[in-house]
Amino acid sequence: MRSNRLAGHTLPNEGRIQVRGIWVEVGPARCSCGVESEPLKSDNARRRWHFAHKAEIRAAQEASA
Ligand SMILES: [Zn+2]
Repeated sequence: MRSNRLAGHTLPNEGRIQVRGIWVEVGPARCSCGVESEPLKSDNARRRWHFAHKAEIRAAQEASA
């Protein structure tokens, strides 16, 4: 099984987010490439979003290679 890492696409704090220094449950995931999700209700939901986001990027890269 190949690595799920993708250069240029990381999810800070594994999907956990802070608002003014306080950890919160609901909010958007934001990839290091600048793409942002709609507000999600948990860290797990944000990690799932990022996993799908990377799959899309990878598919696009393979389609253009
Ligand atoms: Zn990204």
